[in-house]
Amino acid sequence: CGIVGYIGDGNASDIIIEGLKKLEYRGYDSSGIALYKEGKIEVRKFKGRIANLEAAIEREHFTSTIGIGHTRWATHGAPSDANAHPHSNTDHSIAIVHNGIIENYVELREWLIKEHGIAFISETDSEVIGHLIGLYYDGNLLDAVNKAVDMMRGAYGIGVICSKEPDKLIAVRKDSPLVVGLGEGCNFIASDIPALLKHVRKIYLIENNETVVLTKNDVKIYNADRKEVKRDVFHVTWDA
Ligand code: GLU
Repeated sequence: CGIVGYIGDGNASDIIIEGLKKLEYRGYDSSGIALYKEGKIEVRKFKGRIANLEAAIEREHFTSTIGIGHTRWATHGAPSDANAHPHSNTDHSIAIVHNGIIENYVELREWLIKEHGIAFISETDSEVIGHLIGLYYDGNLLDAVNKAVDMMRGAYGIGVICSKEPDKLIAVRKDSPLVVGLGEGCNFIASDIPALLKHVRKIYLIENNETVVLTKNDVKIYNADRKEVKRDVFHVTWDA
């Protein structure tokens, strides 16, 4: 239901949780966050209030400079800790958050189980995304995301991070909202502008079927043909 992602020198967990709270008004049944730390991706996710997630993160004193967060409004699989996002691939090197519905998830899931021996741990449609990216990952996260997206039907706003490319955050938009926030030495993704207004006023409005690669100093947008496209900066003049 809501997505926030951050890459930069700030404290990713604080920034992401604050952003998720700004998206609370859309309603949610669970929330979660994936943070890169010392070569690994740590995922914390809970059914219920964002306060549950916030308390867990505060207890562990997470400091991280890249992460993705999610508030879930369940469509496939009951609200539960296991079904909450982020979801991962089998070796937990990749984490994804997803808004929307993967319409062909049943056949993708069957294929991943039968042909690739992958074990699923949630009942969501979204879990296939992490496994597909993991399956196609061969040293280039953007290529793997592109290949996974080619197999997916449905609606999605997706955020992806990978422990093997921790300088990079990737996002994809199809029939689900997605914006990029442009900071100084940091960049953001979100499903809605209010999540970012504490930090940025410069926004890229991402269009349908576009993929975005963010580093802390750069944002590249690719269209459905995988050609880089330029976007005018949208200046937000109102307050959240
Ligand atoms: N379909 C996904 C799920 O049920 C994502 C729902 C959402 O957009 O929050 O987990």
